[in-house]
Amino acid sequence: MDVSRMNPIVAPPLRRSGFFADIVAGLRSLLQGMGITFRYFSHPSTVVTQQYPENRATLKMFDRYRMRLSLPHDENGFHKCTACRICEQACPNGSINVVSRKGAVTGKTELDRYIWRMDSCTFCNACVMACPFSCLKMNGDFECSVFDKSLLVFNLTRYAGPTSTVLMKVENPEERRKLWEPRDVYSGPLPLRGTELPGGGKTLGKPEEPARSET
Ligand code: SF4
Ligand code: SF4
Repeated sequence: MDVSRMNPIVAPPLRRSGFFADIVAGLRSLLQGMGITFRYFSHPSTVVTQQYPENRATLKMFDRYRMRLSLPHDENGFHKCTACRICEQACPNGSINVVSRKGAVTGKTELDRYIWRMDSCTFCNACVMACPFSCLKMNGDFECSVFDKSLLVFNLTRYAGPTSTVLMKVENPEERRKLWEPRDVYSGPLPLRGTELPGGGKTLGKPEEPARSET
């Protein structure tokens, strides 16, 4: 049975208001738009649109804005990640790869590299919320454009080794130093071509040396 014959879909008739009426309506609409533009032009303090990049030096992104995943390190350069991989399992699209190792000194599982794929991340924040130790944070650094997609794969940890809690229990700095090895931001297990951004610069930046205290 042809259902369309039983319930024919009829398009509503077009409402035409006439040639001159359309011109008048168009002019009225144009003047309204120009009026709004002129009002903001003459009252610049009321403009809410961010004037980027002119305000680049003072621009502060909103607290809820999410762009880059980070694994904050404390003032000694150590983090709290236990390599439990809960965040990895929480990620809906496999953008996280937690690489762990068996600590040579401690004999326990510890973080080696924390690989985050910005190129596939949807910034959903699920990993941040899933971490039981509040190790992760999304920050608002939005200037992340690159020409080479492989530069959007990061290692978020600056060292391979145990958590800050374990490290700070070791009072002797020389003994503590034996527990960790440095890692850099592009040292992931994926085949990465670059170690620096094209042109360098602060946006993604070269890995900073952790401010480790040897005391
Ligand atoms: S923000 Fe979402 S998509 Fe991105 S790494 Fe975290 S869980 Fe995965
Ligand atoms: S960031 Fe948190 S959830 Fe992810 S591996 Fe480290 S401790 Fe576990």
